[in-house]
Amino acid sequence: MRTEEVIERFKRTGALLEGHFILSSGLHSAIYLQCALLLQHPGETIAFGEALAAHYRGQGIETVAAPAIGAIVIGYEVARQLGARFIWTERETGQMTLRRGFTVRSGEKVLVVEDVVTTGGSTRETVEALRSAGALVVGAASIIDRSSGRADVGVPRIALATLDVPSVAPSACEACARGEEAIKPGSRK
Ligand SMILES: [Zn+2]
Repeated sequence: MRTEEVIERFKRTGALLEGHFILSSGLHSAIYLQCALLLQHPGETIAFGEALAAHYRGQGIETVAAPAIGAIVIGYEVARQLGARFIWTERETGQMTLRRGFTVRSGEKVLVVEDVVTTGGSTRETVEALRSAGALVVGAASIIDRSSGRADVGVPRIALATLDVPSVAPSACEACARGEEAIKPGSRK
């Protein structure tokens, strides 16, 4: 799937928002990609899952893991298409961890799937949680990379679309300087 098609699908489903946003990294941006609005359509989830899974067929991926909540839907679909198991990580007192009885075998080949990578923080924390549980993390895949390819998550990484969308510290944000209120769409009701 080409970058243009990825963006077109986000626009068509209303998942590409324009305004003044606080990203989960704390940075501010004029663009927000609300993957949940894309992935509410199972047909879109299947198409993106196919495009991501295509990069990993035949590589013996045993398990796909995704950080909760945003990446669970796409992670599950990639796992289904690879014939793999699916688990997720979540935060417990700030620490990304496996809960709910999820375990990995020593040396188990795991692929981490994300919806959007911005700084790579939650992806990297997921990779580390799996490694400390004994897994062999073979890669990380996301629908969108907002970091222009810069985010280092500690394993080889691919994305369906790599974007260079400016995101800035609040102190350097022009919209903030104009007194415009920033919103945090991730937790918006
Ligand atoms: Zn701002």
